[in-house]
Amino acid sequence: MPGFEVFGEEEKQQIQDVLDTGVLFRYEFGEQRKGVYKVKEFEEAFAQYTGSPHAQAVTSGTAALKVALTALGVGGGDEVITQGFTFVATWEAIFDVGAIPVFTEVDTTLNMDPADLEKKITSKTKAIIPVHMLGAPARIEEIKAIADKHGIPIVEDTAQAPGARINGKHVGSFGACGTFSFDSVKTITTGEGGMVITNDPQLWRNMSEYHDHGHDHAVNPGGRGGEGRSFIGFNFRMMELQGAMGLAQLAKLDDIVASQQANKAVLKKAAAAIPGVSFREILDEKGDSATFLAFMLENKERAAAVNEILRENGAGAINFAENTWHFYPQWEHLLAGSTPCNNGWPFAEGGKRRVIYDPKALPKSAELMSRTLVYQVPVKLSDEQRDRMVSALQKAAQM
Ligand SMILES: *Cc1c(COP(=O)(O)O)cnc(C)c1O
Repeated sequence: MPGFEVFGEEEKQQIQDVLDTGVLFRYEFGEQRKGVYKVKEFEEAFAQYTGSPHAQAVTSGTAALKVALTALGVGGGDEVITQGFTFVATWEAIFDVGAIPVFTEVDTTLNMDPADLEKKITSKTKAIIPVHMLGAPARIEEIKAIADKHGIPIVEDTAQAPGARINGKHVGSFGACGTFSFDSVKTITTGEGGMVITNDPQLWRNMSEYHDHGHDHAVNPGGRGGEGRSFIGFNFRMMELQGAMGLAQLAKLDDIVASQQANKAVLKKAAAAIPGVSFREILDEKGDSATFLAFMLENKERAAAVNEILRENGAGAINFAENTWHFYPQWEHLLAGSTPCNNGWPFAEGGKRRVIYDPKALPKSAELMSRTLVYQVPVKLSDEQRDRMVSALQKAAQM
């Protein structure tokens, strides 16, 4: 998964181009920048890569979610539905626009369960954020059909799945917006950074202006133009060094995915020999970005026993049920309504709790996650590491 494994001369050259101009800002500095616009170029290359007409670079994947929700008009008192297995950033962004996160179960895709989504839609639901966790797609076509029926826009959190496709179509390009992260451990990285893609030119313009303090980008789409302002904004601007990194990394993305697919296949074959094992459902194996291998055992006890063997043999797997950053019952600050805000916002309003989260609210996900083991798939799998992991899996198969 991490693009940092493949840093090379390409990144250095891109960065050098920026330093040679002395301009770190993505806008303005006319002559001085000598025609170097790395962030703009990165946006154009990313849009083209994902088959979307428009892309807006921002400072992080979390900012991308916030900018997308804001441009969609989501705000105070609205509800936004996402899944209970995701990184905390997804619901942090929902709270940050003033809305209330509502969580669905995940199914064998380890992503949003469309049947549970349908149950959780109310008249207050103003956006749905399926997350393509661990490199593989949510049931986005089913989810979109449900959302369309209710006239609710979809923001696809694609932070963990750039390069993943369903029948050739990039995840992130199905909904109203798709958001991406280029933080330091993501599939491609700019250190910190993010992107939103969209088909809708008006949404793009709103995101472009909002992320740049509300500067008028109307007469110069994607860049600054007049000095009017349509609405208030904030600063989520990506800087030129990040754009430069992004260009070098994006050019490597298809090779990263190909390496991960090859490495994942080796690990999956070894895991398949474990009695009773099943695998996470991947909707399109050819389009899998293959950043992770997830497999399930019959129950929690078996999963723990298998992981014990894997650990003893130097190849312990992740159990996300125990991971405090990615799974609903482990988000103690969410469950407790902990906030630095003196008046209790965003959990309380006017002295009253406006939302309370029950740790037992997602029993189906809890059962599934408790028996799921996960390996991160390296881009570069050394012979030594491969042999260690395969041999540990073989020992687990013989237990
Ligand atoms: C990493 C991540 C984010 C946030 O991205 P940052 O760039 O770290 O802010 C959002 N959603 C998911 C699913 C992520 O994995």
